[in-house]
Amino acid sequence: MSHTPGSGTAGEHTRAVSLPEAPVPAERPMRMPVHRATTYAFDTSQGFADVLAGARDGYSYARIDSPTVDAFADAVAALEGAGLPDRVRGQAFASGMAAISTVLLALTESGAHVVASRSIYGNTHSLLDRLLRRFGVRTDFVDITDLDAVRAVVTPDTRVVFTETLSNPAMTVSDLPGLARISREAGAALVVDSTFASPAVCRPLEFGADVVVHSATKYLGGHSDTTGGVAVASPELIERIRSARIDLGPCLAPDEAYLLHRGLETLPLRVARQCATASAFAAALEGHPSVARVDHPSLVAHPEHDLAGKLFDEGRYGAVVTVHPRGGRDDGMAFADRLRVATIAASLGGTHTLAGHVASTSHRNMTEAELTAAGISPGAVRFSIGLEDPQDLIDDALAALDGGN
Ligand SMILES: *Cc1c(COP(=O)(O)O)cnc(C)c1O
Repeated sequence: MSHTPGSGTAGEHTRAVSLPEAPVPAERPMRMPVHRATTYAFDTSQGFADVLAGARDGYSYARIDSPTVDAFADAVAALEGAGLPDRVRGQAFASGMAAISTVLLALTESGAHVVASRSIYGNTHSLLDRLLRRFGVRTDFVDITDLDAVRAVVTPDTRVVFTETLSNPAMTVSDLPGLARISREAGAALVVDSTFASPAVCRPLEFGADVVVHSATKYLGGHSDTTGGVAVASPELIERIRSARIDLGPCLAPDEAYLLHRGLETLPLRVARQCATASAFAAALEGHPSVARVDHPSLVAHPEHDLAGKLFDEGRYGAVVTVHPRGGRDDGMAFADRLRVATIAASLGGTHTLAGHVASTSHRNMTEAELTAAGISPGAVRFSIGLEDPQDLIDDALAALDGGN
């Protein structure tokens, strides 16, 4: 450290804050270091001023830019933009909701209009329906599989069309090329929450989306131990999103960024296996006498099976499966309670298979009539398939359906 006073004359406290530290090694470490510093040293005042003014690249303060956090955002951008001719950039956030709220605030203003899928994540729905409405942003919620319905509500004020690649719990697949066409004609941005797919299944920017957002808490991190979010877009759009992030402040912590970055190394391995197991699981439960319906795009009976085949990587249809047992709410809850390999818990995308009774958890605010309209049976149980042996999961679910376990 250039300003370290020697021993001798400096006082005890000066010496204490100037102790020897690890050097930057000449050899490249085979693991990315974690940079926890919130502030960076400059040799000159001009250098400091230049970085703050953006006259040259560099780091000054961690809420603005941070190397470990940027590495995670750039890594997701590399995965989401793999098939694109032009470079896309990423921004990381403290959570998926931080990414979604910052993107929506960056792309709208008072008087703006948003078209959103009716079946989006609950907090995204309430963000649009309650919080942003208070600031004069109006949202129409539509059946996103009905492109005519989307076109019918677009106005000259529409700034954002918001959907999810795969939606919860029916695993509805969005027609991304169709929505991109409508958005482009309207001069609006197509924002896609691709949490349920991950870039190992589908890369929405390749199909014309303008912004992809993720809850990195799910598949990207992959181990149910880190909360984070990320947005990927063109350099122009990401600069608007970055500017809003800096003002709002929901920055990802460097240690969390490290874990999320590490999780990405095994993303294709994990997701390919989870998807294959999910398809086998769905096929094994479909047609069981105690099962009315199984929702998974791998099944020919799924309304978007063919669309998924066009948009998704081969053989990968996502790893969430929703099972609709015959009977009512109590039958569904009892089915979940009898599972021994799958665990009753919220969230998805981790190594363990998780199960949740839909009507009493993620969709608890919907009335019986709303559930029916959304195609969610009172007993529906959603599975996030993990890394266990497929046959163990299938045997577990079959035994639970048969009243055993
Ligand atoms: C979990 C989730 C979110 C919210 O992400 P957090 O990291 O919990 O803030 C948003 N969208 C979808 C589809 C999700 O599954």
